[in-house]
Amino acid sequence: MPTSYAYFEKRIVPLVEARLPVMTHAFLYGTAVFEGIRGNWSEERDEILLFRPREHFERIKMSAQIMKIALPQDVDELVDICEQVVRRCGFREDVYIRPIAYKSGEVIGPRLHDVADDYLMFVLPFGNYLDVEAGIRCQTSSWRRVPDTSIPARAKVNGLYVNSALAKTEAMENGFDEAIMLSDDGHVSEGSGENVVILRHHRLITPERSDNVLEGITLASVMQLAQDELGLEVIERTIDRSELYVADECFLTGTAAHISPVIEVDRRRVGSGALGPVTKKLQALFFDVLRGRNQKYADWVVAVKPAGEAAPAANAAKMNA
Ligand code: PMP
Repeated sequence: MPTSYAYFEKRIVPLVEARLPVMTHAFLYGTAVFEGIRGNWSEERDEILLFRPREHFERIKMSAQIMKIALPQDVDELVDICEQVVRRCGFREDVYIRPIAYKSGEVIGPRLHDVADDYLMFVLPFGNYLDVEAGIRCQTSSWRRVPDTSIPARAKVNGLYVNSALAKTEAMENGFDEAIMLSDDGHVSEGSGENVVILRHHRLITPERSDNVLEGITLASVMQLAQDELGLEVIERTIDRSELYVADECFLTGTAAHISPVIEVDRRRVGSGALGPVTKKLQALFFDVLRGRNQKYADWVVAVKPAGEAAPAANAAKMNA
């Protein structure tokens, strides 16, 4: 039976056995950094294709550096542990991988120095997060994005996600699918777990990385595809809230969200109010790359053969009969 496993305290164990003490510093104060990585199932290859795991582990190293969390494993070792755990789970479906470098010491007092650190990761089955086909309806949040001068958004800090949670729940309780947060100066920053992109006058525009955003790996991938495959001009610049209302197209990018078309912002239709032609082309390109169907970008995926046997087609048919 495929089961979730974790790498925990330097061993691979079933996820249900990975348990932290209540006094763990990361639990008391949010002092941890994390990643979210997708493993996309390829039926043709009977393999899970990890999407850009190196880039994710490079980013967790950067987050750990900012937060003074010791993460002694290098990127190769982190990728290797990740492959081992994914293989061990035996899932033959899309998965989500959550690596966390955290303050593991059991001590009272908010600080980063003189607290022990550890690293864990676990794997879960995972489907779609937002509606990538019909599109989503967004609300500009009344919660502002935390500025770099308070908690750096370019580090994926666990405690920082209180900001995202406030915004997401406000948006959903108001009947929307997702929040778009503004920075303190009123410019567009990002979604609760996604970067924001608009299309205006045939150019793709995303906020500058100094606008309190996470430097998204999906964003960088999509922008490269837009430039190299669609010949679009791609720019990073400050975006006004009202530009969201008059954009030709708008979408959110993220590991969980993939490319999610935004069809409405603050009860104003964006573009045609449906999946736009450029977003549609980018989705097609991106999903081909994810599933390992585009050789040009083969090095964006790392294949893992899950443990156990693939169900033979004939047997699967018998079991369904
Ligand atoms: N912004 C935030 C706040 C996020 O949590 C995420 C998801 N990791 C993103 C942007 C998108 O980043 P990526 O494409 O690397 O997943």
